[in-house]
Amino acid sequence: MPFSLNSKTVDREFTKSVEEISGEPLTKCMQCGTCSGLCPVEATGDVSPRQIIHLTALGQRDKVMNVKFAWICASCYACQLRCPRGLDIPKIIEAIRLITLRKNENFIEPFAIETGCNTDIPQIALVSAFRKHTA
Ligand code: SF4
Ligand code: SF4
Repeated sequence: MPFSLNSKTVDREFTKSVEEISGEPLTKCMQCGTCSGLCPVEATGDVSPRQIIHLTALGQRDKVMNVKFAWICASCYACQLRCPRGLDIPKIIEAIRLITLRKNENFIEPFAIETGCNTDIPQIALVSAFRKHTA
C-alpha cells in the first residue's frame, strides 16, 4: 500500500510510547524486509510487518491506527527469529494493539458476534481472540 508521508502528521509521542511499551528501539530496523518475506499473514494484511515498523518509527500514528495488520498478526514469532537486527517484532505489534486497548476500545465486540457462530468456530479460537482483541 503506498503511503504519502507528511511532516505535519508526525507524532513522536506515538513512536516513544510504542518503544516504551515494547522495550524495542525502532531505529534498529534497517528495512531489509526479511520479516515481511517470512510472515504467514502478510498477504492478507493491508501493510507488511516492515511497513508497520517503518510507519511507527516515523510517528505516523493515524496511518498505523487505521490499518488492520496489528490485529491480523498471529504472534507466531517467525519474523522475530530471523530479524538480522534482533528486533522483537511481535512485541512491537503488541504495543501498537495495546495503545488502542488501553483506551478501553475493543477491536472485536463479544456481544456483536452472531449467535450460533460458536458451533463453527473452535472455542479456543474465540477465547484467544477475546484475549488479544478486547480491552
Ligand atoms: S527483519 Fe528486522 S530489520 Fe528487517 S525489516 Fe524486519 S524488523 Fe526491520
Ligand atoms: S509474528 Fe506477526 S508479523 Fe511476525 S511473522 Fe508472525 S504473523 Fe507475521
